[in-house]
Amino acid sequence: MVASYQEFMAQGSVEHFPSGQKNAQHHNTMTLSKLFRRPRIDQSPERMERLKKMLSESKTGRQTLEFLEQKGSEMIFEPMKYYGYFSPDKNLVALNPKMSDEDLAVTFVHEVRHAWQDSQMKTTDPKSNPRSFLVNGFLIEADACAAEVMYAHEMREKNPKIWDAHQKSGYAPMSTEFEKTFNETGDTEKARESALLKWYDLKVKRSYGDTYVKYMAYIARALKKQKEMEPQYLSTNKSTQKMVDKLCVDYDKKPFMTDGKKLETPEKLFINEEQAKKLSKALIPYMAKYNRTPEKLGLPQITVVRPDGTKTTCDMIMQQVKDEQKLNNALKAMNNKNQGR
Ligand SMILES: [Zn+2]
Repeated sequence: MVASYQEFMAQGSVEHFPSGQKNAQHHNTMTLSKLFRRPRIDQSPERMERLKKMLSESKTGRQTLEFLEQKGSEMIFEPMKYYGYFSPDKNLVALNPKMSDEDLAVTFVHEVRHAWQDSQMKTTDPKSNPRSFLVNGFLIEADACAAEVMYAHEMREKNPKIWDAHQKSGYAPMSTEFEKTFNETGDTEKARESALLKWYDLKVKRSYGDTYVKYMAYIARALKKQKEMEPQYLSTNKSTQKMVDKLCVDYDKKPFMTDGKKLETPEKLFINEEQAKKLSKALIPYMAKYNRTPEKLGLPQITVVRPDGTKTTCDMIMQQVKDEQKLNNALKAMNNKNQGR
């Protein structure tokens, strides 16, 4: 058996936590901590209650709390490098107490959204082929971030500090995009969709790409060593449309995005060249052992962006890696022969 995505991440072999958003330190916090002694970190139950009250002031926030109640997830404070995380294995949501109340209120919405996603479908499933795994992995982050923006939007009148905090974070392009579409159309569903699609332009996408590639490489290597066949791992093609139908709905089940094809374009379903090479190297022996074709793994559908901005596909990178390996082996054989003289 291979470890679940969350177990794998919890082993600490990777820098980025499963559903944790990277803690983008605000400039003002940095300056303050330099000028004053660091304030005592508040991890009290009263603070958790205060955050819940902040959520109860908006519709999305109230539905978040209702879902939490129903799911029975435990809420804790835990100092960490990130804003927070959700662990499906432990049914637990953790928040970083070092963050401000405004940041934590949106993180609360974000992490519980992951818990909700988990109740709708199996996310980060090791049986998914690389194409489906990446589509799903990117989508759950984009969706959780879009849920935050929805909450911040609903709170704009009552507590503008929440919106302002979002606008100062690395996720600001999403709230800006939401507002732009909302001003143009007056439609919160359309605004939420455009915010979700904006996630794919954020810098943070790259680090999620890194962790997903690391996890898939880990499964491929584990399967290579395994004696028994586990043919379904890394090779189940899952429909993007089904993911969108299940995940891109609000808590009232009203869809805010309906076209799955939007997540399969080269601007959305892409990784970088370094990630593609790493993935290819891990997949080649696994594919030989289990007779997997690049098509079965969905590699031709994954776009690869090279450092110079030109694009190719993951199956082409895999071929390139194979050619390089062949050449290296030939050179090695030649060297050995020469040494033998
Ligand atoms: Zn997340």
